[in-house]
Amino acid sequence: MQRRTFLQTLLAVPAISIAAADDFSNRVKGLPPLTIKDVKVITTNGGSNYRWVFLKIITSEDGLYGIGSANDNYQTFAVATALEKHLKPWLIGKDPDRIEDLWQAANYRTYWRGGPLNNKVLAAMDEALWDIKGKRAGMPVYEMLGGRAHDAVACYDHVSGRTKEQAADAVAKSMATGFRHIRLQYGEGGYGGGGFIPANSGNRAENGYQGQAFDDDLYVETVPPVFEYVRQKIGFEPKLIHDVHSKLSGANALLFSKKMEPVHMFFVEDLLPPEQVAWYKEVRQVCATPQAVGELFTNSAEYLPLIADRVINFIRTRVTAIGGITPAKKLANLCEAFGVKTAFQEGGENDPVNQLAAYHVDMSSTAFGIQEENHFPPLVHEMLPGTAAIRKGFMHGSLRPGLGIDINEEMVAKYPIAEARNGGAYGTDRAPDGTVIAP
Ligand code: MG
Repeated sequence: MQRRTFLQTLLAVPAISIAAADDFSNRVKGLPPLTIKDVKVITTNGGSNYRWVFLKIITSEDGLYGIGSANDNYQTFAVATALEKHLKPWLIGKDPDRIEDLWQAANYRTYWRGGPLNNKVLAAMDEALWDIKGKRAGMPVYEMLGGRAHDAVACYDHVSGRTKEQAADAVAKSMATGFRHIRLQYGEGGYGGGGFIPANSGNRAENGYQGQAFDDDLYVETVPPVFEYVRQKIGFEPKLIHDVHSKLSGANALLFSKKMEPVHMFFVEDLLPPEQVAWYKEVRQVCATPQAVGELFTNSAEYLPLIADRVINFIRTRVTAIGGITPAKKLANLCEAFGVKTAFQEGGENDPVNQLAAYHVDMSSTAFGIQEENHFPPLVHEMLPGTAAIRKGFMHGSLRPGLGIDINEEMVAKYPIAEARNGGAYGTDRAPDGTVIAP
């Protein structure tokens, strides 16, 4: 080949490549352009007392839609209205393939960002978009997040006892159904595991608060011996969890963690309220009890110092509370880098769509630690076909493309959400002197 011809050949190759690269439609011709044609807000009590809010994003392709969860038990109608009046008009006409871009733009769309309302709106959109993308690709969402990192998603069970003997029995019963991760709560009256003085008892101010009252010293003294008893009776096979529900403060948070160290907990959850997370550095100084934190966090950035300084061991995010699958997967990646694990939260009021959003991140992440259990009555499985099943302590998704779940809208319409007499408020706990205690 003559030198001149050879140079011409070299020059010609990049010229052709650039031309091809510029023709963007060439590279994506397998996927026809798609737009968001309509957005529907669907609410239901799920056949009982749930207060579920779902979003259905309908695309320009016949029969192609996605669903997401914006479930908020305490500000249900605010979330539904934000979706209907604010997100919907903004979202219609946009390209559902651009999940990352839409998440960022939707986040800045409200100017003020973060918080439970904004994040649940974002989550509903985000989950529905991942559902659409999965259906488009013909694969479960976890396949698009990197594929299976485990065979199934291990869950922890919920048990409680009013005496130490009841507590040990409850743990044994849970193990018999297949669970090996078990959250044990203890004591009379009220979720959060003991420390409560019955109504009209104890030392109260004249004409003051007489209802059931929380005493943090009592809590620190009564709960650890129950776990010691369970360990003596059952041994160390079950991985035990206890949720303090943010009820301790300062020195009692340290003392409680230290007292739980000999019973080798899988984790102690939310010793402290989100406003007092700086105390976790002190806790880490005095004991090795693993700490799970953040059920009430509503901004991924809240975790950054706790993860980067390795003062916590598990993140307790509810996926919808931080904005959906997109930020949850990023947070899981950050956890992996620092040796922290995920323990995504599932309250009893939670819904099957959010549960599956967590499931897909769980399945795809080596930072996966454990998933909180939540199970639903048969009616919900009928209403939301594809609801995950929990068998022998493991959660299994439906393996259908996308999130793997659908909404039977005709059925759902028969079970509307009722107005709550108290506005749907979360209960208020108080100390014996009437002071409000953080939940
Ligand atoms: Mg909790």
